Amino acid sequence: MRLSRFGEKFAGRSGVVDLMSDLGEALRADPELVFMGGGNPARVPAAEETFRKTLEALLAEPGEWQRLVGAYQSPQGNPSFREALARYLRDRYGWEVGAEHIAVSNGSQSAYFILYNLFAGAMPDGSQRRIHLPLVPEYIGYADAGLSADFFSATAPAIELLPDRQFRYHVAFDQLVIDDGVGALCVSRPTNPTGNVLGAAELERLGTLARSADIPLIVDGAYGDPFPAITFTEAAPAWDEQTILTLSLSKLGLPGARTGIVIAAEPIVRAFASASTIISLAAGNLGPVLATRMLEDGTMDRVSGELLRPFYRARCEETLAGLHRELEGLPWRVHRPDGAFFLWLWFDDLPVPSQELYRRLKARGLLAIPGERFFISLDPAWAHARQCLRLSYAQDPAVVARGLRLLGEELRALYGAG
Ligand code: PLP
Repeated sequence: MRLSRFGEKFAGRSGVVDLMSDLGEALRADPELVFMGGGNPARVPAAEETFRKTLEALLAEPGEWQRLVGAYQSPQGNPSFREALARYLRDRYGWEVGAEHIAVSNGSQSAYFILYNLFAGAMPDGSQRRIHLPLVPEYIGYADAGLSADFFSATAPAIELLPDRQFRYHVAFDQLVIDDGVGALCVSRPTNPTGNVLGAAELERLGTLARSADIPLIVDGAYGDPFPAITFTEAAPAWDEQTILTLSLSKLGLPGARTGIVIAAEPIVRAFASASTIISLAAGNLGPVLATRMLEDGTMDRVSGELLRPFYRARCEETLAGLHRELEGLPWRVHRPDGAFFLWLWFDDLPVPSQELYRRLKARGLLAIPGERFFISLDPAWAHARQCLRLSYAQDPAVVARGLRLLGEELRALYGAG
């Protein structure tokens, strides 16, 4: 078999694929492992019940079967959904958006593949452009989405130390250089892996920089407002024609519906829809039909604001308390959790790289994600990048408590602290 360059890149080893298959393999070998690794949302019974009832009510209506799964949708995605979402965003945020500014994809991951390659890689004039990440660590799933090599550049964060063992990353604007080689800026907000929510002023400043360079600012709202609203601080999204905002139904509790949403200027949406049609023909329709009903009858706001946000907030507090208990006396810090469902830990002077910590924790029965790979395209010499670990707290509290205990035991062994 002879593979093309594309084939070699995408069939070959990649950090994310290696890590995911290692996690999957470990879980298959020992299903009892404490899994604090993945991006799966928590099971929230009241939310699941709401989704099930909405779906059942839809199925009972004449003609809905056909609308749900019996027909291909238009290239941009279900028109009623795009109308309903545009209305919702106009009413809620006052944005000047219409259905023409919205496209649907099969999950936001695949939207990123298209968006990134629309703006970076080989340019028609022979030059090369990159996606610039103004603040890393960033979502590991971006790292291999480029069709060409050297696809990303990034700015290391400024670190602010906070009381109560917390710290926070900020965009280091004094280090942020946007040259002609940058095709777009991209941030997740809340950020996977850190739970950081970029402040409104930081976001505005990035928008201004993007505008003056005439490039888009891509904001990934997979965990953010208005849905699923897993945010514990002021996190209102912003949108204008310079911004590409992506949303997803996955973290709401519907990752199997594979529904991503792109909100952008009309020419970008047209370009996106064209590429998406070539790749997928059409986006799935189950998620959009469910979401249309939930946006229109207020269920989306209730599930997000009244079920998910308090649920994850309580889990977050509980996990933080568990960390203080289990890691007492160890040199640990946690990124201030403003949203999403991860805690990002930083162990100062960690005696081994976090990749090795990952291996040792796995041997003890805990799966967490080592920090190195989230520092996409950053100088690997930076010690901080080898001292971090991402923990998901979406699992049952008893499972999380067991995981924290194992983490404490391993760290004590590593630091020789008894
Ligand atoms: N963006 C971020 C920040 C994520 O964490 C994820 C999934 O974990 C995605 C995008 C992709 O989600 P999906 O393709 O399910 O919409």
